[in-house]
Amino acid sequence: MENYQELTAKQKTFFQSGKTKDVQYRLNALTKLKEIMTSHEQEILDALKADLNKPEVETKRAEIGLVIGEINFMIENLSSWATTQEVETPSTHEGATSFIISEPYGSALVIAPWNYPIQLALAPLAGAIAAGNCAVLKPSELTPHTSSLLAKMINENFSEEYLRVVEGEVETSTALLKEKFDYIFFTGSTGVGKIVAEAAAKHLTPTTLELGGKSPAIVHEDADLDETATRIARSKFANAGQTCVAPDYLLVHRSVKDQLIAKMQEVITATYGENVSENLEFPHVVSERHFDRLHQFLNDGETVVGGNSDRSRLFIEPTILDHISWEDSIMQDEIFGPILPVLVYDELPKAIDAIVERPKPLALYLFTDNEKVQDDVLTKISFGGGAINDAINHMTTHYLPFGGVGNSGMGAYHGKASFDTFSHFKSILKRSNK
Ligand code: NAD
Repeated sequence: MENYQELTAKQKTFFQSGKTKDVQYRLNALTKLKEIMTSHEQEILDALKADLNKPEVETKRAEIGLVIGEINFMIENLSSWATTQEVETPSTHEGATSFIISEPYGSALVIAPWNYPIQLALAPLAGAIAAGNCAVLKPSELTPHTSSLLAKMINENFSEEYLRVVEGEVETSTALLKEKFDYIFFTGSTGVGKIVAEAAAKHLTPTTLELGGKSPAIVHEDADLDETATRIARSKFANAGQTCVAPDYLLVHRSVKDQLIAKMQEVITATYGENVSENLEFPHVVSERHFDRLHQFLNDGETVVGGNSDRSRLFIEPTILDHISWEDSIMQDEIFGPILPVLVYDELPKAIDAIVERPKPLALYLFTDNEKVQDDVLTKISFGGGAINDAINHMTTHYLPFGGVGNSGMGAYHGKASFDTFSHFKSILKRSNK
């Protein structure tokens, strides 16, 4: 059994030295992390190509660009975030002053998934650094080229008592979770999230769980179908649908369903070409197990767009399934692949009830300009976060904390929320003896 006692002990001692609490130390580490990403850009592109056939443009935008943007935002704002905040004191406490100190937790464990293996490892790591923690990062074993590159980038440039990448499979996570970390940040499936929460509970370690779920895209009868088709198709089929916030299924008003599907077909052809199997840039499914899981869904409903696949290169083309019901197998769990099932509704309240009866989604997208409909959906359905007349982009702004609720997770990060997540806020009331 692997044992990480020595590593956590080293990080604890280093943290106690107080070095990471110095704001300049954190700024230097963030700057260094950014420089490492820039100097390893080609290696990152190659690793993502080898692991997921991810196109360069996607890697530059969603893996490298997004993390560098986060780091820049942290560098710009860190001094003000880390400043002790003075707050009001009630008259009942006359003569006292009150303030709140942000302090790092200590040593944080970050466990990352495979679908955006750079972004979902390094964005939380940047948050841990900004807040002044030491950290251990465990990347996913399903993207081995990226995992070993992360180990090289971090372990060759930082000391292990400060930041360390530990590579490995489930046994490695299990062994790490036995140790007492001061914070755990986990991104992955809901099932594994529960295992992580149970392990964290043994040490009463606070956790953020960034999980998955079935995120609906509701298309109302008044939606602009050209824009809606473009925005849904691009967000669903990017990374071959292996995006935690991709629209999982369409819930569309019956009167516009056929037109919407026809327009989505046009967008898919315009984006990926007439014959997507010939488009060697289209990302592949991560593993044979996931390919087989997804392939079975092609038996549900009626395939109205796409449907071709090739197991030898883990390829499934962008596919739309019509005539789907809530009972179909594809509607039981998160899809996480390039297959989009379509369900229809006649009355919005029934569509809302159907979502509310199920586990709370990570994201929800609503396509309508009708403000009453927007209000109904936003007030009646609980979900992590989302967008109106757009999809996915709520997670690419520093100003919106990103996270789930219920089965889709707990806690949030990005921008200042990352700093807050990895900080404890210590409240102090100060009186004088005079
Ligand atoms: P996963 O839960 O299988 O694995 C995530 C990490 O946990 C990996 O590092 C893996 O090695 C580790 N792990 C796996 N089994 C474990 C166990 N029994 N004990 C401890 N650690 C274990 O998830 P995945 O397949 O890598 O990623 C896909 C899932 O992640 C989807 O559900 C997706 O929605 C979700 N996701 C969520 C977000 C988000 O930000 N909310 C982002 C990306 C992915």
